[in-house]
Amino acid sequence: MPAPTRSVEASDASRVRDAAAAFDDQVRDLLYRIGVRAAALAAAHAGMLRLLAEFAGLRPSTEADPLFSFDMFAPEELAGVLRVSATTAGGQMGFAFSAVRRLPRAMQALEGGVLDLQRLRSLETAVSPLTDEQTSQVEEQVLAGGPRRNRGAFGAACRRAVLNVDPGGAAERAAERRKGRHVRLYPGDDATSTLSALLPAEDAAACDNQLNQIADEIIRTRDADDQRTRDQIRADTLVDRITGRTPLRPLPCDVQVIVPITALLGLGEEPGEIPGFGPIPADIARDLAMRPTSTWRRMLVDPLGALIEVADRRHPSPAQVRHVRARNRTCVHPGCTRRATRTDTDHTTPYAAGGPTIVVNLGPLCLKHHRLRHHPDRPWIVRQPRPGTFTWTSPLGTRFTVHPHDYITGEEHLPAG
Ligand SMILES: [Zn+2]
Repeated sequence: MPAPTRSVEASDASRVRDAAAAFDDQVRDLLYRIGVRAAALAAAHAGMLRLLAEFAGLRPSTEADPLFSFDMFAPEELAGVLRVSATTAGGQMGFAFSAVRRLPRAMQALEGGVLDLQRLRSLETAVSPLTDEQTSQVEEQVLAGGPRRNRGAFGAACRRAVLNVDPGGAAERAAERRKGRHVRLYPGDDATSTLSALLPAEDAAACDNQLNQIADEIIRTRDADDQRTRDQIRADTLVDRITGRTPLRPLPCDVQVIVPITALLGLGEEPGEIPGFGPIPADIARDLAMRPTSTWRRMLVDPLGALIEVADRRHPSPAQVRHVRARNRTCVHPGCTRRATRTDTDHTTPYAAGGPTIVVNLGPLCLKHHRLRHHPDRPWIVRQPRPGTFTWTSPLGTRFTVHPHDYITGEEHLPAG
């Protein structure tokens, strides 16, 4: 009997080969189907663009909105359907209207899956300053070269074709494009935002160079405990330069504290808000709120979270309150010995009369003397001519002066009449 070993080994090996080939076929098939789906996606995009353009055509521009190629309120109708902002809807309508009207062959290429939506966008952006005639020439030149190996190469081909078709218009196009310069803020995730700027190319490069130079200098001379990355330093430097922020002068912030009034001084885990941004985590809100330059604005909310009232008066921040209570260690009414830690922080010139929430306009007043100074019939007049020095004029015209705590002699100044 022949030993079967050899043929078993051979058939094992061929089974392994078959399995590997089947696996490769499976992957090949998957990649093929991804390609087919990408082409179908492009065709679906083309279909959507045609519908959007048709809609724009049914809402023609009126004389009131010469800048639009369609009625300026049409995006609001579309926004509801797409569940996007009216600005986004308007942008999509404008793109669709322009692509369908001016780039018919590129639209066909999108339908056939030769181009994808991003490539069509690059082309449409590149031809936006051109006449219809020039646009048609650019379209022809670009499409003759196919989709290119990636989107960057396709975009570059679009710009080259524009330069080719309209070399003389380059300066004018640049001037026109640069009129659209802007800075925009895009709220992001987890207490970050993106600040973006469309700038003349040389200005953008100058800013970038400057950030690099400053970052190089900081990296060369910094302490060991400055562990920031180069990107972080560049970002910090940008903010420092625009706002004038320094370690000694942090950014002021009008923190909107969404809390019941009882929690105001404790500031628990409730999120705060930066106006125009939205909620931020409690520990970041706390850091902002504790800065000496920050003011607080109370937002009273009901148990379901609906806003009841935004205080028109800004509350002194804890840092301001600490400063005022250390400067004047008791209620500043002449003769009152109530410790400052058990007082209100009073605006010397009332907030309602334009008095700012800064320490030179703040002083500790106990509840009784708070009421006394605002007495409707017999008011006392209070001034703060110097930080921490208060002059009082009684209803009968007698004047008193109260001085701040003297940290050299340790004495409490006595009121002088
Ligand atoms: Zn008092």
